[in-house]
Amino acid sequence: MAASVPDIRSVKAKALQLFAERFNEQAAVCVYAPGRVNLIGEHTDYNEGFVLPMALPLVTVIAGKSHDGRKTKIISSSDVVDATNEFEFEAGKRADIKSGEPKWANYVKGCIANFICDVPAFNAVIVSTVPAGAGLSSSAALEVATYTFLEALSGKKPEKPEQKALACQKAEHDFAGVPCGIMDQFISTMGKEGCALLLDCRDLTIKQIPMVHIDDYVFLITNSNAPHKLSSSAYCERRDCCYEAAKMLGKKSLRDADMNDILALISRNIASDCVVRRARHVITEIQRTQDAAVALEKGDFQLFGRLMNESHDSLRDDYEVSSKELDSLVSAAREVDGVLGSRLTGAGFGGCTVTLLRKDAVNKAIQHMKAKYSGVPAFYIATPTGGAREVSIN
Ligand code: ADP
Ligand code: MG
Repeated sequence: MAASVPDIRSVKAKALQLFAERFNEQAAVCVYAPGRVNLIGEHTDYNEGFVLPMALPLVTVIAGKSHDGRKTKIISSSDVVDATNEFEFEAGKRADIKSGEPKWANYVKGCIANFICDVPAFNAVIVSTVPAGAGLSSSAALEVATYTFLEALSGKKPEKPEQKALACQKAEHDFAGVPCGIMDQFISTMGKEGCALLLDCRDLTIKQIPMVHIDDYVFLITNSNAPHKLSSSAYCERRDCCYEAAKMLGKKSLRDADMNDILALISRNIASDCVVRRARHVITEIQRTQDAAVALEKGDFQLFGRLMNESHDSLRDDYEVSSKELDSLVSAAREVDGVLGSRLTGAGFGGCTVTLLRKDAVNKAIQHMKAKYSGVPAFYIATPTGGAREVSIN
């Protein structure tokens, strides 16, 4: 099928081969961590709401081996934006590790710095099928793969998987300088095969949602391949509107607000039209995400699809984070018989869409989206995959 994803075993084989070629010996340890797609629940994380991601068969694999020398050397096979795809640094005390160039290496260094113990020097290669910068979380896949690699290398693990996810998030904040939420690291760490993950961003509790009834349906990801344009100022403007609305309502966050509060904001005439619309998106999206989790568990895919459509329309009209490319892919998908819902996924302004459709409509949907879209999209079938793990090297 046009949208199938390379088998994880073939990505592993590629990493083991690359390691052998570059370091003239066999790797001793191999791990992978998945990228993710968020099925619904956009811009809800910083409002203490819910998100519903699932882990993807698109993965980042790290293969490597420790040695008695002093330098840790890491090579990425991917076309990262930085000038070089390899770097080395003095191994030693993790507290001495500093961020620097190349930028992509900061995701790796941050995880070593935040690991639970010092690790010996090592050589490693990274091979990934998660497209970088497309909103499928190649950054968290890289962090969680690194952390999992360190666990395998040292034989030590934190007590709870939450600690691992939080350490990876801290690596992204402190070393890569990206103030990301916690969803990506949670799903890459705790994803369960066959399940989506309902994460409560208020108290970080999770619920695995088994997709037992999905047989005839599938989620299809479409990468717009349009450059990601969510500037930090646009992101801050959205976030500040949410905080302002919550403050006007005397609530800790918009998680505690409901549609009556929106009516109150309008009737008291205290908030700008823009703030009202931003808050309305968040309040309705938090509810939709909870409803979608129930629908998924029950196998009510008609309802799930409707909620996806409502989510996209709200992101487009109230939150204003869509783009002409994403709108065009979503409209094209919705025209196809057998499509139940389609929406942008991720923060918006570029990246991917996710579509729920009947399996037998996939080829038609791909053809139609390709014909209607002005750019060159890429497609992936999203099969719910397990979280990060060590894999045998044989
Ligand atoms: P996303 O997480 O949506 O893919 P981000 O901008 O958060 O996008 O993260 C992308 C960045 O993560 C890349 O620019 C690069 O620095 C780093 N990265 C991701 N995957 C790899 C990889 N396989 N090798 C090297 N760096 C990577
Ligand atoms: Mg990211």
